[in-house]
Amino acid sequence: MTIRAVVWGENVHERQNPVVAGIYPDGMHTTIAGALAEDPEIAATTATLQDPEHGLTDARLAATDVLLWWGHAAHGEVRDEVADRVVAHVWSGMGLILLHSAHFAKPFKRLMGTPCGLSWREAGERERIWTVSPNHPIARDVPAQFELEHEEMYGEPFTVPEPLETVFISWFQGGEVFRSGLTYRRGAGNVFYFRPGHETYPTYFDPHVRTVLRNAVRWAHNPAPRIRDVTAAPNVPVEAAPERIEERGPKLHQPGEEGFR
Ligand code: ZN
Repeated sequence: MTIRAVVWGENVHERQNPVVAGIYPDGMHTTIAGALAEDPEIAATTATLQDPEHGLTDARLAATDVLLWWGHAAHGEVRDEVADRVVAHVWSGMGLILLHSAHFAKPFKRLMGTPCGLSWREAGERERIWTVSPNHPIARDVPAQFELEHEEMYGEPFTVPEPLETVFISWFQGGEVFRSGLTYRRGAGNVFYFRPGHETYPTYFDPHVRTVLRNAVRWAHNPAPRIRDVTAAPNVPVEAAPERIEERGPKLHQPGEEGFR
């Protein structure tokens, strides 16, 4: 079994900021895909904002088991129809992993339905990540706690819905805490938000972070066939009811009508 993962990167700061370009000369998406490729059962490819249709055509998404998303400076440049397409594929069974500043990415905000806000500080402080759900598959081979010497602080309240599971919690040197590994299910799709990964620090070279990424891809993979017509809302006519009934009472709709959206 091979899990087909696509790492999507907005690929903006890597080309515009010399610090980021120095750490990730081939782009963060390439480094993240390299972490995934250390698992022989994950086939990782990349897509970027600059590709036609952001590299996320319907055919590409249909052939994607798990999509990873890193975005920060250009959330607003992601076309609405592409964001809607990603959401529909999650509903029908594609896994989605949101990384760091993707808390404000269009697909994540649409799937959560809440502001997805947080407090933040860019001071290169130490982050200590606690594994609070040690038996969760995403925490496999991850220690009870590990440190990233330089990270951006994200602080609570993180205005997302209550998750299915909280896998990691972060403490920062300045004193704040943050729920940094959260799972959700939206339709048939498994969704994981993972906090670390500010672009001016080498976070995606950290071995524990890379283990989490591989574990998360395996966890998010839904091997069941993709649900078709996931947004359909069909009318069931009287004659097709499982039990025989007679139509009665006043009616609003005509037979065969599409219905309102
Ligand atoms: Zn950041």
